[in-house]
Amino acid sequence: MATPSMANQPYCGRFAPTPSGPLHFGSLVAALASYLDAKAHAGRWLVRIEDIDEPRAVAGADQVILQQLERFGLHWDGDIIYQSQRKERYRQALAELQQQQLTYPCNCTRKQIKARGEYYTGHCRAGVEGPGPYAIRYLNQTPVMVFTDAIQGEVNIAPAVAGEDFVLLRRDGWFTYQLAVVIDDIDQGVTDIVRGADLLTATSWQINLWRHFSQRQPHFKHIPLALDEQGQKLSKQNHAPALNPQQVSEQLWQACQFLQLTEVPLTNPADLLSLATQAWRAKFFPETSAQDTITR
Ligand code: GLU
Ligand code: ZN
Repeated sequence: MATPSMANQPYCGRFAPTPSGPLHFGSLVAALASYLDAKAHAGRWLVRIEDIDEPRAVAGADQVILQQLERFGLHWDGDIIYQSQRKERYRQALAELQQQQLTYPCNCTRKQIKARGEYYTGHCRAGVEGPGPYAIRYLNQTPVMVFTDAIQGEVNIAPAVAGEDFVLLRRDGWFTYQLAVVIDDIDQGVTDIVRGADLLTATSWQINLWRHFSQRQPHFKHIPLALDEQGQKLSKQNHAPALNPQQVSEQLWQACQFLQLTEVPLTNPADLLSLATQAWRAKFFPETSAQDTITR
């Protein structure tokens, strides 16, 4: 099926943090990149709190994150949505897939899957045996092994990974990020998804869901990951330090350096963000002239 062009769909981007702790440098880079891309396209920039994994969410972390964004001058458009408030919608989306026989129950434990090999290879496709609780998996009949990314170019995903029957509803009853993120991006009219390159595999799965639930497809733009000195992803799990509220300009400038917007000078946050927007446009989308941006 042809994907209708999104030329007439107004640009909408988003930053979608998981509220498991305060933002650190790695998440600032992701927030800044999605913000700059939205501004460079004169588009909207939404913030969504991805608290679908409620056991992982830390009370109050959402407010801390929102304050950090404001402090860094990253002001969002529209209302903030919380995934924890949208379970009814995810239930409905899951039911639709179930009705079309695109799902199946699975009671394999992590341990059992690991014992059989590196990837889940469809053990319960032919029918689940034994007692629950059951996870619900997506019957991945059309793996997406290659897709185009506006920053990374052509991205290839190993067939074994792309073809995994990923989980939509966990054994412990929680909806997964994979399902929630696609339904939210569709419902919010997101056209451009800018996020870290650690989500490339997830993108291949999510394209499957996009094709199912939407007539259109977003542009994907994956930015390189910020790593610590040991080469590990900067993440809350790896105890990356929180942003320092006393060094807003410095950290914004460092994030620009990381994104290779090296011409951006160290100046006050507002000027820095506006110069960084121009630098982003020149680096990634030189064909989008200023004129274009104004008339979009
Ligand atoms: N909530 C995800 C995270 O914090 C981001 C998901 C996304 O941008 O699609 O890693
Ligand atoms: Zn199974």
